[in-house]
Amino acid sequence: MSEVYNWQIGRSMKYQYPEAHPDSQFAFVFNINRCIACQTCSMACRSTWTFSKGQEHMWWNNVETKPYGGYPRNWDIRLLDMLEKENPGGQEWRGPRGDAKESAPYGEFKGKTIFEAAEKYVGPESPVRVLGHTPTDDEWHSPNIHEETATGKSMEKGQWTRSTELPAHDIWFFYLQRLCNHCTYPACLAACPRQAIYKRPEDGIVLVDEKRCRGYRKCVAACPYKKPMYRPTTRTTEKCVGCYPRIEGKDPALSPDGVPLETRCMASCPGRIRLQGLVDVDKKGEWKPDATNPIQYLVRERKVALPLYPQFGTEPNGFYIPPRWVPRNYLVQMFGPGVETALEQYCCPDRELLAVLQLFRTTQEIIFRYEVEKGKKVAEIEVTLPSGVKKTQEIYNDTVIGYNKLGKEAVRTTVEEPTFERPSIHVNSI
Ligand code: SF4
Ligand code: SF4
Repeated sequence: MSEVYNWQIGRSMKYQYPEAHPDSQFAFVFNINRCIACQTCSMACRSTWTFSKGQEHMWWNNVETKPYGGYPRNWDIRLLDMLEKENPGGQEWRGPRGDAKESAPYGEFKGKTIFEAAEKYVGPESPVRVLGHTPTDDEWHSPNIHEETATGKSMEKGQWTRSTELPAHDIWFFYLQRLCNHCTYPACLAACPRQAIYKRPEDGIVLVDEKRCRGYRKCVAACPYKKPMYRPTTRTTEKCVGCYPRIEGKDPALSPDGVPLETRCMASCPGRIRLQGLVDVDKKGEWKPDATNPIQYLVRERKVALPLYPQFGTEPNGFYIPPRWVPRNYLVQMFGPGVETALEQYCCPDRELLAVLQLFRTTQEIIFRYEVEKGKKVAEIEVTLPSGVKKTQEIYNDTVIGYNKLGKEAVRTTVEEPTFERPSIHVNSI
């Protein structure tokens, strides 16, 4: 085992291999608040990559309803329980939060990661390199189970006893959009005895070498997000490939200049919840500071988007703007201690943040840099923040411009949505 630094847990941790980092890293931000669970993303992925025999149960991208839904069923609860059993009462975060130092933006995780908890694990499969579990066939069977099933206790004797009001609703659910996080310290890669899984040096995408894979399914057990999937017809594991031909700009129809394009799931999202990027990484794995890259701005500069279960320790590169109506203890368990800071900003975004939030799903080209052109003030509204503080939000109709890898303008959009008047020739006569 080697010592590696994981900025998401604010400390060094043990990992199977020494530090080795790509030049740039595939990353994405999802705004959970906007998702309408239409599953267009899931279908876009499926119709591109997993429509063949033996892939029937494969949803590399899935959208599940929390808290009850999960694909495979209970993927996260089971692991949280296993970690608690290995380290009773010890899975805690401590230290400064929110505005903490750059190397530990959410404070320090004092508990055990899935790599550390595996060291003393005793179970039917031990010794293991990574603490995990292999879901049963039955658990893979119902990808959208419990869709839109809410939890809460406001109903008594058939009567609503409480209203649902922000900052947190009594009755709640939310949609969680998931794909492989192309982790910095992939658990799938660490667990593979065949060294069949590798992380590409050019963009950090994690791939399975199908020729080396023997279908031992160690990666399925190890991935805390359960994103490698076994294919019985080939007896190998398959997983999200990050639509790498699109990332490489190899689609001559859509990318004649060879500029990187968003993946199919990102590019198809009608809810406009998704923003994909590539961030530059230094030799130690740190993101090279560049607040003009929208992903960097949202994750590192403003800390408004947070990793999913950072305490697992894989340093996932998918980040989420948490849903603002959900009880905070649930969100903190899922996204770590940065939740309060993230929501305080999201509920009353300042001028620049509001402009950057407009960039989501506006172009198929990956945005490497953005600029904001100042516009007129168009509104002033009173906002109560989750903390109870009252604030006046000033809204400006700024224009935000996104540039592609070649520095060419890929998108230009305004904070106020333009309105179009339908010409009388098209007036609906019904
Ligand atoms: S396409 Fe977008 S809005 Fe629809 S389910 Fe997927 S993430 Fe949500
Ligand atoms: S999410 Fe799972 S499959 Fe994807 S890189 Fe991380 S550990 Fe591997």
